[in-house]
Amino acid sequence: MRTPTPPPDHHLGSDRARVRVLIVEDDDTIGRHLETGLTGGGYAPTWSRTGTGALTEAERTRYEVVLLDLGLPDADGLDLARRLRTRYPNLLIIILTARDTEIDVVAGLDAGADDYLVKPFSLTVLLARLRAHLRRHPAASPQEQPLRLGDLTVDPAARRCLLGEQELTLRPKEFDLLTVLARHADTAVSRETLMAQVWDENWFGPTKTLDVTMASLRRRLTEAETTARASVRLPRITTLRGHGYRLET
Ligand code: CA
Repeated sequence: MRTPTPPPDHHLGSDRARVRVLIVEDDDTIGRHLETGLTGGGYAPTWSRTGTGALTEAERTRYEVVLLDLGLPDADGLDLARRLRTRYPNLLIIILTARDTEIDVVAGLDAGADDYLVKPFSLTVLLARLRAHLRRHPAASPQEQPLRLGDLTVDPAARRCLLGEQELTLRPKEFDLLTVLARHADTAVSRETLMAQVWDENWFGPTKTLDVTMASLRRRLTEAETTARASVRLPRITTLRGHGYRLET
């Protein structure tokens, strides 16, 4: 008897970036199975075996989907789901659980997960669920939508920044910095996160370059505000001593 081949993921056209999936699973067999299956299904998976590793990975790269095992050696899966949900509101979180009691499923969904699969699950079912979620969850698609902050629009896909109708010219790092802050609007963003996401994921040196770029970004926003013809509402960037920054809309 032939095993039916799962249908190709048609929504993942070749002109679009592949959907990034973070697998958080300590079991070697399941992790490898997921990694291979997702790659075959047209996704770009990254596999993390620990909760700590998963949080670091999620800070480093923007993921659209997390497949989260609840039984991890170093972290409580429910707690991890809660933290991921708070930090990344648009992330699609699917919990993978061997615990099939109703109470665990309810707790997982309450913790912020969008869906769950009880182990052992079939890869075909997982891929079908992913397709269904991604169709209804456009915010999780890799084509990032423009971010609107008062009268300021940051469009990461087009790399444009507009104040009303007027284009605002920013240097590349100023743009990247504004984008990261805008993605986490009204949330505190640590200096480490900014250094990692704007400069280099393995950056361990002094962070003076962040202060310099932040100062010039603020200057450009202030200039744009003063030269704007009409009165405009611009986001404020507040310094959080000993932590980082928060962009306030
Ligand atoms: Ca486990």
